[in-house]
Amino acid sequence: MENDVKTTLKETGFGFKKSLGQNFITDKNLLEAIVADAGVAKDDVVVEIGCGAGTLTRAIAARAKKVIGFEIDRSLKPVLERTLSGVNNAEIIFKDFLKADLSDIEAETGEYSVVANLPYYVTTPLISKILEEGKLCKSLTVMVQEEVAQRFCAAANTPEYGAITAIIALYASAKIVRFVPREAFTPRPNVDSAVVRLTVEKSRLPVSDGALYKKVVHAAFLSRRKTLANNLMRAFGYSRAQAEGILTSCGIDPMARGETLSPGDFALLANKISKP
Ligand code: SAM
Repeated sequence: MENDVKTTLKETGFGFKKSLGQNFITDKNLLEAIVADAGVAKDDVVVEIGCGAGTLTRAIAARAKKVIGFEIDRSLKPVLERTLSGVNNAEIIFKDFLKADLSDIEAETGEYSVVANLPYYVTTPLISKILEEGKLCKSLTVMVQEEVAQRFCAAANTPEYGAITAIIALYASAKIVRFVPREAFTPRPNVDSAVVRLTVEKSRLPVSDGALYKKVVHAAFLSRRKTLANNLMRAFGYSRAQAEGILTSCGIDPMARGETLSPGDFALLANKISKP
C-alpha cells in the first residue's frame, strides 16, 4: 500500500471492516488501468459504488467531468476528505447504494457510466439494481471476484453458465478486461479478482416481457439435474404435455437441461410462453 494512503488510514484511526468487503487498491498503475479499461473521457459522469479510501475516486476524477461516489461507511469520511482534498469534481454520498433511488441519481447525472471495485458480498444485487432499474447507465466496469467474472461472461453449456449469465445478457454484453491477483489489495482477500466490462445495450434480445424472461431463466436453473420440461412444469404449473409442447414448438429438446440454452433460446421460450 502506498505510504500516503497508509498514513492517512493510520492517522484517522480507520479500522478495516471485512463485513463491508473493504479491500482497497492503492497501486497507481492499476487504478489508472481500471479507469482506462472503462474508457472514461473528459465529458463523462461516473458513478462509483464503494469509494473506500478514495484512491479509485481520485483516479476517475482526473479523467472524468464528475464522479458521484457512494460509500456506506461513514467512518471513511475523514479519510476521503484527505484523499480527495483539491479534487473539485467528486461528490461523495454516504449511503448504502442498494437503498439509493436511481431515478434521483439519474436526474443529476444524465447519461453515466459505473466504475467500481465492488464490495464482493453484494456484487450481484448491486449490478442487478443498475441493470434493472437504471435507464441512463451506458456501461459498468467493475472489479469482482474472478469466478464471478467468469460466470458473468460464460458461454452456454459450460459449468460457469447460470441464471446470472442469462439475466445479464438481457441488458448488456459482458467481457473480462483484466485479471487482478489478490496481492493487489489491502488487506489481501482470499480470492483473485477480475475487471469486467458490461456494455449496456437496450433491446439486446427480442424479449416482449423482461420479467417473464427472468422467470423462465430462474425456472430453467431451478434444478440443474432436471430436464427443462420438468423445471417448467414445476415453475409454471404446466402438465408434461404442455411443457413439452411449448419447448418443441421453440425447437428445444424437452429433455435438454437449462444450461444448454443460450440467452437467445430463453428469449424465444419466454416469448412463446407469453403468447402461446
Ligand atoms: N474503491 C475503493 C478501492 O478500490 O480501494 C474501495 C473498494 S472496497 C472493495 C468496497 C467499498 O464499498 C468499501 O469501502 C465498503 O465500505 C463499500 N461498501 C460496501 N457495501 C456498500 C454499499 N451497499 N453501498 C455503498 N458502499 C458500500
